[in-house]
Amino acid sequence: MAMADITIRGAGAFGLSIAWACARRGARVQVIDPHGAGAGSSGGLVGALAPHVPENWNAKKQFQLESLLMAEAFWAEVETTGGVSPGYGRTGRLQPLKDARAVALARQREGSARTLWQHHAQWRVCKTKDIGPWCPPSATGLVVHDTLSGRMHPRQACAALVAALAVRGISLVPEARDAGQVVHAKGYAGLLELNEAFARTVGGGVKGQAALLRFDAGAVPQLYADGLHIIPHADGTLAIGSTSEREFDDPSSTDAQLDDVVRRAQEAVPVLHGAEVIERWAGIRPRAKSRAPMLGPWPDRPGHYIANGGFKIGFGMAPKVAEVLADLILEGIDQIPQGVRVTDNL
Ligand SMILES: Cc1cc2nc3c(=O)[nH]c(=O)nc-3n(C[C@H](O)[C@H](O)[C@H](O)COP(=O)(O)OP(=O)(O)OC[C@H]3O[C@@H](n4cnc5c(N)ncnc54)[C@H](O)[C@@H]3O)c2cc1C
Repeated sequence: MAMADITIRGAGAFGLSIAWACARRGARVQVIDPHGAGAGSSGGLVGALAPHVPENWNAKKQFQLESLLMAEAFWAEVETTGGVSPGYGRTGRLQPLKDARAVALARQREGSARTLWQHHAQWRVCKTKDIGPWCPPSATGLVVHDTLSGRMHPRQACAALVAALAVRGISLVPEARDAGQVVHAKGYAGLLELNEAFARTVGGGVKGQAALLRFDAGAVPQLYADGLHIIPHADGTLAIGSTSEREFDDPSSTDAQLDDVVRRAQEAVPVLHGAEVIERWAGIRPRAKSRAPMLGPWPDRPGHYIANGGFKIGFGMAPKVAEVLADLILEGIDQIPQGVRVTDNL
């Protein structure tokens, strides 16, 4: 390959998506990751592309809304180009409402969703009996059904991006010299590096454990029940996540906390009892101090950029993150809102 215009360091959801957004605009890109694609947090199982609640709106929530709305076209183009499915589907989400307070809040949000999401998607309070057999039990007989949430399979999405990049002549290499402008999308390791570079806490990691079950639910909505994401995938599996652990010794081990997650999911959705657990997985979510993505130029390091802090919603944010980074690097147009900027964390 001729000398690259852009070097991406880190082949997770952020790095690969930015590489793709730049490549499809004609840039020469190299992607470097000593551990391979999806070796970090992005190599997991869950893949909920779920919105923030439609209230107390801010630039970060708007940014995520735009990303979720971009997802369908983004992943379709990746799949068409590389021939590998990321498992994307805008299948919606159901959330049981446990008491009168939850119902009142959900009804308020019906109205705010109309204003904030406009015609793009709905947030509706529905009777469980009107939803059909996949509806989870609900103490009030009511659930929220939103039509904005989507799902994809994280590990397959990384493979789909790698395949699409390969069609554009871009392969992933374990090491190379920087060429052109450099994007640091190194997840948890990148945040530790930033802590050192700025001599303060910019971010850290939150471990998560998840499980994959053999359970073919079909193209039905994902569920959010008892604080768990229950994601029916396109390939006849179903993911359950996750734990949230600020303290951990081993980043990749799974333990009794995951048994508890599976048990709670089975209690919330009894039809899952008896489904075989075919994989247990753990990873470290990159969490910036602001809890939001941190994007933009690396201060005082011309030609270097940071794309990190995907935390619990990195896949949901990836299409928009990729677009604003490509705008910034290739066109010099900075459309990164307050709340998701590198400088929000310094
Ligand atoms: C259990 C769990 C469940 C989750 N569920 C969801 C969900 O349902 N929906 C959602 O949107 N998000 C979810 N997330 C979060 C999501 O996975 C992350 O936000 C996202 O993967 C972050 O992507 P990233 O590319 O920034 O980081 P990573 O995927 O961690 O990628 C960083 C990459 O950088 C590489 N790297 C490290 N050091 C270097 C170096 N020096 N040079 C080059 N490369 C380097 C690593 O090898 C790695 O491949 C979940 C995470 C976990 C752990």
